Amino acid sequence: MKKQIAILGSTGSIGTQALQVIEEHADLYEAYALTANNRVDELIAQARKFMPEIVVIGNESKYLQLKEALADLPIKVYTGEEALCQIVAEQPVDMVLTAMVGYAGLRPTMNAIRARKTIALANKETLVVAGELINELARVNGTPILPVDSEHSAVFQCLTGEVGNAIEKVILTASGGPFRTFTREQLATVTKEQALRHPNWNMGAKITIDSASMMNKGFEVMEAKWLFGVRPDQIEVVVHPQSVIHSMVQFEDGAVKAQLGMPDMRLPIQYAFSYPDRLHASFPRIDFRTCTNLTFEQPDTSRFRNLALAYEALHRGGNMPCIVNAANEVCVAAFLHDRLSFLGMSDIIERTMQRASFIRKPSYEDYVATDAEARRIAEESIANN
Ligand code: NDP
Ligand code: MG
Repeated sequence: MKKQIAILGSTGSIGTQALQVIEEHADLYEAYALTANNRVDELIAQARKFMPEIVVIGNESKYLQLKEALADLPIKVYTGEEALCQIVAEQPVDMVLTAMVGYAGLRPTMNAIRARKTIALANKETLVVAGELINELARVNGTPILPVDSEHSAVFQCLTGEVGNAIEKVILTASGGPFRTFTREQLATVTKEQALRHPNWNMGAKITIDSASMMNKGFEVMEAKWLFGVRPDQIEVVVHPQSVIHSMVQFEDGAVKAQLGMPDMRLPIQYAFSYPDRLHASFPRIDFRTCTNLTFEQPDTSRFRNLALAYEALHRGGNMPCIVNAANEVCVAAFLHDRLSFLGMSDIIERTMQRASFIRKPSYEDYVATDAEARRIAEESIANN
């Protein structure tokens, strides 16, 4: 029986690499459902190649084009947010890869957890926004959540065989992004073109900007807290520009385990698919004859204020990470449309944190309201900037 995988966001960076993994192991995995938001031509090509049972296009105005293009095939075609939420619960689905961007991933992920489909989690925003709720839902339903994010996959691999052994620290590595060595003055004038040029990873636009601003690392600290049950003071970030060590765990005897590899997301994607087994992979290997210089630096939260704001949100807890996530999504979109400067993003996020209503113990409905309120505040602040 091949594992049936639903890929939410199959046309993106993670989605397309997941399909490469499925192609390489066609004897083990099958794409049961493929979904996109706008890129309908890519979705059509993927559907014709992988022959899933179901395809979904988020944007309803693209539905007819998709439906007509696949009319000769026995593929069910749906559209809209509701369809995305429903297809994850289809009986044959074994695993849901959450590879869509942002807050939009929350509801489909919750539905997949309720339907007891193993989650391969790329959409870190789900845990940033509602980590406590997601963990509780996963616990009640006995649904495993396997990390796809490279750092968390590394930690997860380091923890294999360590059941019952106390973790002293989780050490997340960060590349530092394209602006690692920039001064504040230089950061004030950077453009989106510069920010979109990540030194080590080829990713979707939103996470690439988050990496440049180091908000991505802040989100990953939150993600680590919820995935591994560690306290914030047990999570350390170290800048490691070569991105060869994907992350580390320090145990109570002082031993540190690290997972190393080339910066290639297909490895963590494949590990989530095959866990607890490992499968052969054709990806490039590290060559220690050329990879001779692994370096480490401390992150600088005065130049990268988003990282400091993420830490603050983590410490304040409640709906504060949800507020930060919503403000950040609005800011990144504005930066990508030249409506906000790179450093302006931190100003708007900070202002939104001050103005949005704080809720200590949010329910799902509270998160929905918080997301809407924080987006409105951030949009208004940008307009008045
Ligand atoms: P991309 O922008 O490359 O792809 C996003 C995918 O999700 C696309 O298929 C897109 O459709 C779809 N999508 C976007 N918004 C919506 C929406 N509102 N409703 C339905 N579908 C939507 O992103 P990435 O692949 O880079 O990232 C995906 C997730 O994985 C993010 O949460 C990111 O943080 C995380 N991640 C990514 C890594 C990477 O290397 N790329 C590494 C670690 C984590 P369309 O193509 O039609 O726009
Ligand atoms: Mg990562």
